[in-house]
Amino acid sequence: MSASRTRVALMGATGSIGTQTLDVLRREPDRFELVSLAGGRRLAELAAIVSEFRVRRVAVNDDAARRELAPLVDPGVEVVTGDAGLRELASDADVVVNAVMGFAGLPVTLATLEAGSRLALANKESLVAAAPVVARVRSTPGAEIWPVDSEHCAIHQCLAGSTRTGHPDVAKLWVTASGGPFRGWSAQRLRGVTKAEALAHPTWSMGPKITIDSSTLMNKGLEVLEASALFEIEVDRIDVVVHPTSVVHSMVEYVDGSVLAQLSRPDMRLPIAYCLGAPTRLAHHWGRLDFSQSLHLAFEPPDRDAFPALDLAYAAARRAGAAPAWLSAANEVAVEAFLEDRIAWSDIVAVVAATMDHYEDDPLDSVEAVVENDARARRIAHGNLPS
Ligand code: NDP
Ligand code: MG
Repeated sequence: MSASRTRVALMGATGSIGTQTLDVLRREPDRFELVSLAGGRRLAELAAIVSEFRVRRVAVNDDAARRELAPLVDPGVEVVTGDAGLRELASDADVVVNAVMGFAGLPVTLATLEAGSRLALANKESLVAAAPVVARVRSTPGAEIWPVDSEHCAIHQCLAGSTRTGHPDVAKLWVTASGGPFRGWSAQRLRGVTKAEALAHPTWSMGPKITIDSSTLMNKGLEVLEASALFEIEVDRIDVVVHPTSVVHSMVEYVDGSVLAQLSRPDMRLPIAYCLGAPTRLAHHWGRLDFSQSLHLAFEPPDRDAFPALDLAYAAARRAGAAPAWLSAANEVAVEAFLEDRIAWSDIVAVVAATMDHYEDDPLDSVEAVVENDARARRIAHGNLPS
């Protein structure tokens, strides 16, 4: 064991990004030490990770989860709970991977940056909801955000590792979208979508919430907001283009018309390893393309009428303040209701739109204001769910 291993905290360890992060860590035992974990409901899976990686500190949601986990792990393992537990673990690592799903990831994002550590960010909802607050804590000495989201990781690479687009040479960012399982479907056909169809993503295997977001294109809308906050660029310089095979993960267009792109097969271990290893690239062939076979790259504009989530996200970005927090919160409520078979697929974006109609400008200047706006938007979204 080397004393200089990078100390990694993995929040959301049992999910799709979490398990792929473990796969990266498994292959680099001399480089990384997994020091802490957080999970939600899958406690048996969490316990298995604790023993495999000999992790000493774990965060779970509440005391009931702690009692359930305790007999499954070594008695020396410290189990902390709630948002305070997440914050505690996130403030004691060299790199924190935020792979928690949804707004619940906010304490991880904030505590990591406040501690002046590297945040490997998959949890886009925290950045979208709290952008003005994140912008402030990001200036803590040592604090860095490295984007795990594949589009943002691509842009990061095309900007040569920088997260700032203030450079006058950058004209715009192109965020690519697979188009999801319903690309090319008419509004009429979309009304009959089933849960199984919405959960069958053509190119990526992901957790259920983001898979549904990909089917409505709300994921792309959230990614535009994420890119705007991450790269500090106005949304009118960010565009979305549909690229069905997910080989080009996004692009940066420079003022002379030159477009730089990052290409690989769709495999999230590549961006995860990029964020963990930087400035070193880890030598594994995740996502390697085979140019001995023919490779066709197709691009088309998104259908903004059939997928109104995209324009809702742009509208929220232009209103700024708490509008993106409302969009994301309302979407979480609607997607959860859809996954529980309480509403139809076509109701998801309608619920978000109806919730946004109640939004009144709020500058969002504190963490308390973020939490309060999230709660208010959720209440209104619940009220907008069709019965
Ligand atoms: P999953 O649903 O697969 O996993 C979510 C993880 O978060 C699980 O470990 C879950 O625990 C945990 N979790 C949920 N609520 C809490 C909580 N309150 N406290 C602590 N942990 C919690 O989601 P994904 O891995 O797909 O996505 C995670 C994040 O990464 C999302 O923000 C998503 O948008 C983003 N992302 C995902 C991509 C992907 O390929 N999957 C690509 C790009 C971004 P448990 O399961 O034990 O309940
Ligand atoms: Mg993405």
